[in-house]
Amino acid sequence: MTARVNLINSAHIAAAISYLDENGVDERNLSHDYCLKADNGHHYPPKEVLRRAFMICTNGPRPKGLIASGTRTAAYLRQRGYRAEKCGELPSCQERLNRH
Ligand SMILES: [Zn+2]
Repeated sequence: MTARVNLINSAHIAAAISYLDENGVDERNLSHDYCLKADNGHHYPPKEVLRRAFMICTNGPRPKGLIASGTRTAAYLRQRGYRAEKCGELPSCQERLNRH
């Protein structure tokens, strides 16, 4: 994990969630193990949320790898107050983001 990932705060994550609500998620970036379950009832792929939050935080390009493991990504998001856990609805729950 790069040290810069620790710059991401809960506001960056909230902004990333809003971005994904507006723009959807490429199916290549869907998660196959964990979901971030937001208060709005939508499920998001945790790594994609973190990548987008990093881009918002640094105002920089899309990072290649931030946190390799899904388990550690979920733990990272939980530390920042988000619900990230294994989900029995995958991957259809995340695909719903692309249907407006
Ligand atoms: Zn889910």
